[in-house]
Amino acid sequence: EAEGASDHGPAALGSAPLLDVRMLARHGGPRVRELYLERLVAGEIRSCYAMTEPDVPGTDPFLTATHAEQQPDGTWSVTGRKWFTSGAANADLVTVLARTDGTAGDRDGLSLLLVPTASPGFRVERELPLLGAGGQWEIELDHVTVPGDHMIGERGRALAVAGERLQLGRTLRALRWLGQAQRAFDLMCERAVARTGSRGPLAGHQLVQQHVFDALLALRTTRPLVHEAVALLGAGRDAHTEVGLAKVAAARTLQQVTDSAIQIHGAAGLGPDTALPALFRTGRAARILDGPDELHITSVARRVLRAYGERPATPR
Ligand SMILES: Cc1cc2nc3c(=O)[nH]c(=O)nc-3n(C[C@H](O)[C@H](O)[C@H](O)COP(=O)(O)OP(=O)(O)OC[C@H]3O[C@@H](n4cnc5c(N)ncnc54)[C@H](O)[C@@H]3O)c2cc1C
Repeated sequence: EAEGASDHGPAALGSAPLLDVRMLARHGGPRVRELYLERLVAGEIRSCYAMTEPDVPGTDPFLTATHAEQQPDGTWSVTGRKWFTSGAANADLVTVLARTDGTAGDRDGLSLLLVPTASPGFRVERELPLLGAGGQWEIELDHVTVPGDHMIGERGRALAVAGERLQLGRTLRALRWLGQAQRAFDLMCERAVARTGSRGPLAGHQLVQQHVFDALLALRTTRPLVHEAVALLGAGRDAHTEVGLAKVAAARTLQQVTDSAIQIHGAAGLGPDTALPALFRTGRAARILDGPDELHITSVARRVLRAYGERPATPR
């Protein structure tokens, strides 16, 4: 939470590559670990992760169009396009989800390949400003040759590795979003108390107090959900329901609280002098990245309903 609340937290603590480091440590082969792991941890090289594609829904990875063919010498030739690849322009390595077996729509046959971005055929196509802010990129891979030992996890079993990575990523992000929502709440309350008109401070208006109450309620109900997901994940237990709840709640809370904080700031809330526009942008994107709200809502609800289908009925 504290890291997320700071503009410079992730960079200062070097936590940006955490998900890649963990993925390579657990699922990379000895050569990959030897070549990249220490340098990634030391901040000497940077990495990014490319799953989402422009031409197929990111919510349906089975349709992934990027494909990789194994050559007689054991290397892979990777071709495809990805977008919203965070940090791709400055990355030395990109983990690419590609179909290695089967055909579009098959549940198996997807693999993860670690591609050095200096490889011939790798190109950063364009930046995709997100509500005006940079950091997202579209990339193209045109018959990029990747060493055979740069496969991450088992061939055809990418989604198991991706799922593990996403669960941790969502949980850590939910913590950051909580920290950011708390920061927006603090800014809102400080403004409400300090800004004074002829009838006293903004804090005296009941409709301003409504914003404060609703924002506090969102923060206080979201925090235990996120902490529960953290505890379960940390203990290595099944946390699908809790991570889904935490992700949706934290994203909504960040969007709601920053929206209220902007409202209470008036025009200043939309201008360049506070962190609120950036926090609001993060809150809006939070409801889509790492799987949109709808995916988590239906997945959690299905799990809950399945359990009800399997247990004795409650006495009427
Ligand atoms: C800031 C940001 C950073 C990102 N970083 C990365 C990254 O580094 N690497 C990467 O690979 N991707 C990244 N993404 C992409 C992100 O993971 C995808 O945008 C997300 O998974 C959704 O995929 P999509 O955009 O293709 O939406 P689609 O799959 O086209 O879905 C569009 C909309 O349809 C609706 N919908 C979809 N499925 C369902 C359903 N089952 N039920 C009901 N409604 C549904 C939802 O409203 C959804 O928002 C990033 C996105 C953002 C915004």
